[in-house]
Amino acid sequence: NLYKFLINSSPIQGKDGTTQGVLITLDDITELEEHNTNLQTMVRRLEESQTKIQQQNKELHFLANRDSLTGCLNRRSFNEQFERVFKEAKKTNSELACIMADLDHFKRVNDTYGHAVGDEVIKLLAEILHANTRKNDLVGRYGGEEFFVVLPGLTVEEAFVVAERIRLRIKDESANRFKDGPIVTVSSGIASIKDNPDNPAALNRFADEALYIAKESGRNRVIRWQYDTQYGVHAQLKVKGCETTTESVSEIADLKPE
Ligand code: GH3
Ligand code: MG
Ligand code: MG
Repeated sequence: NLYKFLINSSPIQGKDGTTQGVLITLDDITELEEHNTNLQTMVRRLEESQTKIQQQNKELHFLANRDSLTGCLNRRSFNEQFERVFKEAKKTNSELACIMADLDHFKRVNDTYGHAVGDEVIKLLAEILHANTRKNDLVGRYGGEEFFVVLPGLTVEEAFVVAERIRLRIKDESANRFKDGPIVTVSSGIASIKDNPDNPAALNRFADEALYIAKESGRNRVIRWQYDTQYGVHAQLKVKGCETTTESVSEIADLKPE
C-alpha cells in the first residue's frame, strides 16, 4: 500500500534561542487524496458526458429540423423560420425574395432511370441550392422534388439572378455527373415581399403561381410573379417581366444522351 503524508516541521528552541530539536508531525492524508482523485475523476466524467449530451442534442436538433435525404430544412422547420424572417423584413421594411423550384418531368426520371437515380437528382439539386445561397438564406424541401428558398435582403431581380444560376447549373451538372443520363432541368417561380403579400403563406402562393406559369409556358425557366395593375388580378397568365429566354423546353427523352 502507498500512503501519503503531509509533513510539517518546526524547530524547538531553548531559552538561549538555540535550537534544541525539531518537532515533526506527519498527517496521514492517504484517504483525503483518494477522495480528491475520485472527485476529479467524477468531474472529468461529468464534463465528458455533458459534451456528449451537447453533441447528441445538436444531432437531434439537426435531425428534427432537416430532411434526411437532402439535409435541407424540412417543411415544419422551414415554415417556422420563414415566419421569423418575413416578420423581420416587414418590420424593417427590408427586401426579401423567394424562389420556388421544382424539377421538370421528374416522374419520368424515376420511371426511366429508377428511384435511386431519382434520389441522386434530388440530392444534386439540394447541393446546387446550398452552393448558390448564403448561410442565412433558407433552403427547404417542400415536396418530393420541390424546394423553397427564401433570400432575406434580396430584391426580386437579384433572386432572379440566383434562380437563373441554379437553372443553368442543374442542367450542366446533371449532364456531367450522370454519364448515361438523366439530364434534368428545373422550373422556378420567384416573388418578393415588395409584391405585398399579407403573410408568408401569401408570398409562398405568389411563388407557386409563378412556378405554375413556368411549367405551363414550357418548363426550364424562371418566372417572376407579377400583379396586373390594369386588371387588378393576380397575373398568373402574364409572363412578361424577367422571365428567361430559354431554349425550347426539351422533354427528358430528348435530353437523354445517345
Ligand atoms: P412537372 O414538370 O410538372 O413538375 O412534372 P413532374 O413529373 O416533376 O411532377 P409530378 O408532381 O407529377 O411528379 C413528381 C414525382 O416525384 C412523383 C414522385 O414519385 C417523385 N418523388 C417525390 N419524392 C421523391 C423522392 O424522394 N425520391 C424520388 N426518387 N422520387 C420522388
Ligand atoms: Mg416536378
Ligand atoms: Mg412537384
